[in-house]
Amino acid sequence: MIVMKFGGSSIADSERMKNVARIITENLKKKPFVVISGIGGITDELIAIGKAAASGKSYAKMCGKVRKRHADMLGGLGLDASLLGEEMLLLENLPKAIERNGTLKKEKLDLLMSLGERMSVKMLAGYMNKGGYAAIPCNSYEIGFITDSNFGNADVLPVAYARIRESCIGMKAVPVITGFIGKDKSGNVTTLGRGGSDYTACIVGAAMDADEIQIWTNVDGVMTTDPRIVPSARSIKELTFSEEAELEFLGAETLHPRGIRPAMEKNINVRIMNTLNPGYRGTLIKKDVGISKRVASITSKKGMTLFEITSEKGMRRGSDLGQLISEMGKPGTAFDFISVSRKGVMAATTTADDSLGALVKSLRVGYVIKKRGRIAKVSVVGKNISGMENVPLRMMKALGKTRIIALETDISETSCSVVVNEKDADRATALFHDEFFGGSK
Ligand code: ADP
Ligand code: ASP
Ligand code: MG
Repeated sequence: MIVMKFGGSSIADSERMKNVARIITENLKKKPFVVISGIGGITDELIAIGKAAASGKSYAKMCGKVRKRHADMLGGLGLDASLLGEEMLLLENLPKAIERNGTLKKEKLDLLMSLGERMSVKMLAGYMNKGGYAAIPCNSYEIGFITDSNFGNADVLPVAYARIRESCIGMKAVPVITGFIGKDKSGNVTTLGRGGSDYTACIVGAAMDADEIQIWTNVDGVMTTDPRIVPSARSIKELTFSEEAELEFLGAETLHPRGIRPAMEKNINVRIMNTLNPGYRGTLIKKDVGISKRVASITSKKGMTLFEITSEKGMRRGSDLGQLISEMGKPGTAFDFISVSRKGVMAATTTADDSLGALVKSLRVGYVIKKRGRIAKVSVVGKNISGMENVPLRMMKALGKTRIIALETDISETSCSVVVNEKDADRATALFHDEFFGGSK
């Protein structure tokens, strides 16, 4: 069997949904298990509704838009509106409950967000059935997706794999499974973090020992960089699991940050394909690519805040530094890099305010914390980068032609990164792409 996952952009309207149904039915011989996201942009709309309801703002128009997009989809697919009756009722009642409460609890937001995926599986399976292809819409939590209770970014528990296998083995019709969602042990709906349908797909693949996991999206595979930044970026034929994991960690949106892990553990190949160009080979992600070292792709991670913690007396390495690092490692804090100097440390986080607040409270008197603005990490990723001495040199040379300042550099086995001011990130990405792949303007 294979897993075929389709992202929101691939099912944004009824024509695209029909295209997806066609791609699936052309692959029936391979026994596909389908995983899909909510229709393009719907999760953002559901979040906006939740936030408006909690702050007493009007959300009727936004709910109307979500209803209309699904009604248009149902109409375009020739399906009856009653198919989504249960979810439409929830769409009406949940925001009211949030409004009465006056706060947006994480549990409630996850429940609200889950509606997107719950509606899309019904529509795709409904359309396939109507066309004579047997398909079953499955809420992932009904086929074994049991998670922890970390609402908004839940992780799937190890026991889930066997449960998924038990529920799905021997299924005759094509299962069309909700990406992104699960349930915790108490029965609350959870979500796996934004872009989580990729993770769902890789878990299904690992649970079912799939021959291949296909992630269908709106570009020709994993590209040499984000094509929105450098339109001349090219599709990479093959990537190793480690290169993909590094790309995810360093900000590429090709897959969910934990996406590749289950496939990597089971050594199942993952192929990234384009629904708008289905005949194209895409990118094959596998254990090895038979090249000893290379630059594979350039990526950037934005949205980090840089801050400095200094003390006039300097930082005592054992006690002060140890205390700081242990504070930085506590749950709820997420630091992307730390650099130590005589006077203190410089660190960056994507959750600046919460993490900073907790740190300030915990530190001994005498330290000064200063925010230094928004930064980004721009990285060159590839196999055995640390064995290629000229990579950092070439990166510095590329930046040397500009006024972009590298605030920090960092090298690991599979990546070399520079930290720059956020406003310079796209320019640095394009310069590095030019340096290593040529051709970007
Ligand atoms: P989906 O709706 O299929 O889940 P996403 O929007 O989550 O799609 O991810 C696909 C997008 O990721 C692409 O449209 C592309 O702009 C962006 N992207 C960022 N970096 C890369 C990269 N290195 N290769 C391919 N796509 C990338
Ligand atoms: N619909 C979810 C999101 O927008 C999950 C996904 O698209 O993978 O984040
Ligand atoms: Mg995605």
